[in-house]
Amino acid sequence: MRHSKEARMAKRLSHYLDRVNRVHLLIMTILLLVCIGLEYYLNLALGITGAYAHLFYVPLFIAAFWWGFWGGLSVGIFLALIHLTSYLPDISQLVLAESLAFALVGSATGVIGSERIRAERKLRQAYDEEVKLRRDLQAEMERRVEFTRALVHELKTPLTPVLASSELLIEELRREPFLSLARNINRGALSLNEKIDELLDLARGEIGMLRLKLKQIDPSPLLRSIADEISSLVASQGQSLILDLSEPLPSVTVDENRLRQVILNLLNNACKFTPEGGTIVLRTKRRGTRLAIEVEDTGPGIPLEEQQLIFEPYYRARSGQIYSGGLGLGLPLCKTLVELHGGQMWVKSQENKGSVFGLSLPL
Ligand code: ADP
Repeated sequence: MRHSKEARMAKRLSHYLDRVNRVHLLIMTILLLVCIGLEYYLNLALGITGAYAHLFYVPLFIAAFWWGFWGGLSVGIFLALIHLTSYLPDISQLVLAESLAFALVGSATGVIGSERIRAERKLRQAYDEEVKLRRDLQAEMERRVEFTRALVHELKTPLTPVLASSELLIEELRREPFLSLARNINRGALSLNEKIDELLDLARGEIGMLRLKLKQIDPSPLLRSIADEISSLVASQGQSLILDLSEPLPSVTVDENRLRQVILNLLNNACKFTPEGGTIVLRTKRRGTRLAIEVEDTGPGIPLEEQQLIFEPYYRARSGQIYSGGLGLGLPLCKTLVELHGGQMWVKSQENKGSVFGLSLPL
């Protein structure tokens, strides 16, 4: 029983000593030896008493700072004993008070030292946890991108022959309804291909792996060609498209393909949600040092409480669930791409009136 208690104490002591910084221990030993030297040389050999005892507070404070309460108390008692023994056998009340002061000041400053050590330990723990969390998060994100990449590969492999064969069929077939069927297959495969690319782009964007190929361009021809591209879809749905460019437009530094992707996405959404007979406007406005591009529609609008949520990945607003079966990838990807350009995206919408989706690009 006694043996095991001693073993436990020895273990605790060795654990404590392991945690004590060796350099601190060496410095403290030197300081204490200097104190002993001063005490015995000045007091015993030369008979000088008094003032030098104040120097004892130096190791005392240092011990309290490094090792807290137990450090301050032990060094305080040690110094008190040295001080007392060097005056033996005539210990005056002053010497006794000084010795007591060492022990008391040692323990009092030690309490503050312990608080500091505890706060530092907590801070280090929080820092270690934060580092671990960050490492886990990074690994998790890399795993996600890796998974998305593998998924994209698996989905694209069977899609490639569908796309190639449907294109070939469109070229070869002359008779209806086979030509229309081939076109349907091709359209479906192309749209699936786009969704798969969006999925990978979004995953890349989330971990900052999406890169832009920036170039200075005149936005007018780009916006006209986008309007041309969407015009057949708009016409087929009985909607009208108005192109309202505040020309001459200043040039912008952008990734042309990515900007096209963003505006087409907004126009496609506008087409999807605008009823027959409705109007879609593609508009530009110069706002100080920014160029704003807006897509306005006369669709069902978006409730106020959902207007920010639709920029979150995989979120589909109430209107989306009624009118479309999308995945909620388009707008978050648009936002990521616009922000990569140093711009911003926003939406202004009123239920049953329509929506305006806007983006700004720095000039
Ligand atoms: P998806 O990629 O599935 O089309 P988006 O990210 O483009 O999704 O859009 C998210 C949601 O925002 C849609 O589900 C829809 O509810 C809403 N939304 C987007 N554009 C419009 C619009 N022009 N009018 C009304 N609702 C819209």
